[in-house]
Amino acid sequence: MQLPVHFSHPEPPGGSRSVWPVFIPFGGCSGRCIYCAQDLQTGTETQDPATILSDLRHRLEQSLPHKRSPPEIGFYGGTFTRLPLVWQHRFLALAREYKHQGLLSRIRCSTRPDAVEPEQIRDLRKLGLDMVELGIQSLDDKVLQASRRGYSSDEARRACQTIREQGLELGIQMMPGLPGQTPTAWQGEIREVCRLRPDTVRIYPCLVLEGTPLAGLWKRGFYQPWDTERTIRAVSRATLRLWRKDIPVIRMGLHPERDLLPSILAGPWHSAMGNLVRSRILFYILFGYAMQKGTRRSLRGLTAPGGTRGSSGAITASIAQGCASSTFPPKRSVTRRTIDSPSFSKRDPWRKTPCLEDVKRL
Ligand code: SF4
Repeated sequence: MQLPVHFSHPEPPGGSRSVWPVFIPFGGCSGRCIYCAQDLQTGTETQDPATILSDLRHRLEQSLPHKRSPPEIGFYGGTFTRLPLVWQHRFLALAREYKHQGLLSRIRCSTRPDAVEPEQIRDLRKLGLDMVELGIQSLDDKVLQASRRGYSSDEARRACQTIREQGLELGIQMMPGLPGQTPTAWQGEIREVCRLRPDTVRIYPCLVLEGTPLAGLWKRGFYQPWDTERTIRAVSRATLRLWRKDIPVIRMGLHPERDLLPSILAGPWHSAMGNLVRSRILFYILFGYAMQKGTRRSLRGLTAPGGTRGSSGAITASIAQGCASSTFPPKRSVTRRTIDSPSFSKRDPWRKTPCLEDVKRL
């Protein structure tokens, strides 16, 4: 007898906003964090702010009027709130000009927790800033210390509160696999991230990149990154936990910039980390459902809405792989088909499945 399993897709809306990134590598940074190679990560050479601003003006003039829906703009790659004030104001003034014309929808920037002052955030909000993405990376003091981040977890919590109190949206960036971090402890950090109620989260697993202080530690045997499987497991559990609190995870893993790939010395790199994680989560849900129903039936097929057509191959592959390494074996390969009307309802029976508990047994 075949047992159909229906569940709603767990990913909350809000993760697919289009953001026009403007990279200011190391702009405003007082030093270099041990894992950081912003120039390689962003595919952007370090330039002076005047050049970045004039290039940006040119690109905005050329491209924005032709966009169908206005994107957001994000100032990334450094510590925006520690740029000289005059440059913070000039970048925001340019973005605001286009926002007022309806060609940009919102303005965001990234910064560090120890570069968040209430008065300054209030001023930046008045200048048009809508959101701050905080590179928290870890909420464990020992990990922060071992990673030489230069702030405490309390400072990171306070920075989140400040951003919220000043009426801005909050994004949080986390980095699993930093020195001294374990997957179990990291899940505890994610629980705390849920309590901080960010509007979005980005997850960048820690990689060893050429030219960074972390590369030196790794070469001397003082640091070992998490492997890919351990990372996918940890990020899947974390993402599901965040999704359950309606917090979108808008990025998993670094973008595959051309210069980045040859400089990765070690670590959990995969160009489709996000897809692998999403697929694994769906497997966990099915597995949890099977455990709840007390069935060990083989999994025969997956029927998914047409909108998931692009990722359904990865999903079935991941399910098959997950089955192979669990007590939930498929008797034959999993087939897939897509249908054009959504069968994943927006109601949430999936929330009741005990999949997170069962994940721990995998
Ligand atoms: S503050 Fe951010 S951008 Fe600056 S060096 Fe550290 S990780 Fe890199």
